[in-house]
Amino acid sequence: MSPGFGTMLAAADDFPGWWTAATRLAAAGIAPEETHWGIEGDGGSLFVPFVTPLPDITPFEPPADFRRLAQFALCHRSPERYALLYGLMLRLRTTPDLLANRADVAVARAEAMAKAVGRDRHKMTAFVRFRETRTADGEPVFIAWFEPEHHILRLTAGFFTRRFASQRFSILTPEASVHWDGAALHHGHGARRQDAPDTDRLEALWLTYYASIFNPARLKVSMMKSEMPVKYWKNLPEAVLIPGLVRSAQARASAMVAAAPRTPRAGARFTPTPLEGGLSQCRACSLHAAATQAVPGEGPEDASVMIVGEQPDDQEDLAGRPFVGPAGKLLNVALDRLGVARSRLYITHAVKHFRFESHGTQRLHKTPALDHIQACTTWLAQERQSIAPRVIVALGSTALLALTGQPGPLDTWRGRLHTLEDGTLLAVAQHPAALLCLKKTHEKRVAWHAFLDDLRRAFIAAGLMANPEDQPPAARFMPCP
Ligand code: URA
Repeated sequence: MSPGFGTMLAAADDFPGWWTAATRLAAAGIAPEETHWGIEGDGGSLFVPFVTPLPDITPFEPPADFRRLAQFALCHRSPERYALLYGLMLRLRTTPDLLANRADVAVARAEAMAKAVGRDRHKMTAFVRFRETRTADGEPVFIAWFEPEHHILRLTAGFFTRRFASQRFSILTPEASVHWDGAALHHGHGARRQDAPDTDRLEALWLTYYASIFNPARLKVSMMKSEMPVKYWKNLPEAVLIPGLVRSAQARASAMVAAAPRTPRAGARFTPTPLEGGLSQCRACSLHAAATQAVPGEGPEDASVMIVGEQPDDQEDLAGRPFVGPAGKLLNVALDRLGVARSRLYITHAVKHFRFESHGTQRLHKTPALDHIQACTTWLAQERQSIAPRVIVALGSTALLALTGQPGPLDTWRGRLHTLEDGTLLAVAQHPAALLCLKKTHEKRVAWHAFLDDLRRAFIAAGLMANPEDQPPAARFMPCP
């Protein structure tokens, strides 16, 4: 090894450490072959037998687009990346527009690396599956095991801390781990697969749901494999179902065609295809025993928005129609304010029977349990398949759980659109019944505006509403009812 400048990085993806060293070495004009890069605790001293102090010099400032390229490419698994990126940085001193030259071999190689890292990062955001466990003091903690191809854990952790801000979670990988305590992210050592739980109480629900939304008529195995590469399957709970679902797809698709109604019933109230005697005869859980009737969804079959509530309440149970009681009236006010006719929406529930507790003559709402939600996934999946809405709005956490297998909290899902596994967009909003329970005027006002915002986002995405940014400001003032 030639004498030169040796830098020991704290970790394989230690971008700040590499950047600090590289910008100083580049400012001093050190040739790439004189630089040596190692990683602490990773046989680093084999490559960097001597760590040299960095030149005491004002660091070189490369163009901003190089920083982003380097940040991604540095997470690539290839050992050549440090030297390759350093070589590029040095050349940028004399050729500032070097990155525009796509024919340059080093630029092309760095971009290919950054792209591979970006892809791996995207797969991680899609395929990490958390399992719920408890700390010794009974607090829920969500743990996931993932095997990335590149060193992307640190680069991707922010996505999960933003999405699950108020939940404690750990993501374990073979080389490193991250632990979020609800306030700060801690970095830890690599782990083994068996360090993460391999099932939890939500998994059965998720599997039932995945099997019921799997549409055999839309199956394209090659596309599915490119979206969900086989190498990730071993850590995806739903993957155990895929071979069986694929094998039976042809027969199920033919059965669906045979069962399809021959004449369109545009605008008709949706009646689910009879399944073991139809929804009105459903005995899949215990709720049918005390409820008056199962409440089906209603709305046009070509609705572009499907609203999913929790379960029928007292008045819906008696009327056999969704959202006709106080929560439904509040929903109507919101629709009115937004200028969207209720008759254009398909409105349904995650759970079709009313769960309640009797107090004298009163029947008080009781949140449905996991097995009630699970028993109803078949109905919801059938509705999704028949209506095929562009956007689904989940009102409250029961609907969120039924649609995603994720328990919330709601606020980490609100405020933006998500994409469900079949491409349908998902908006999440508070349940109007929860708004009715708020006591303080200020809280009510804030929640009401957030509710309108969440619905508006969904309606704009579905093409039911124009973007209010295009309207004059006065038209946007919507007082709290
Ligand atoms: N809660 C719901 O989810 N639906 C209703 O119809 C009423 C209350």
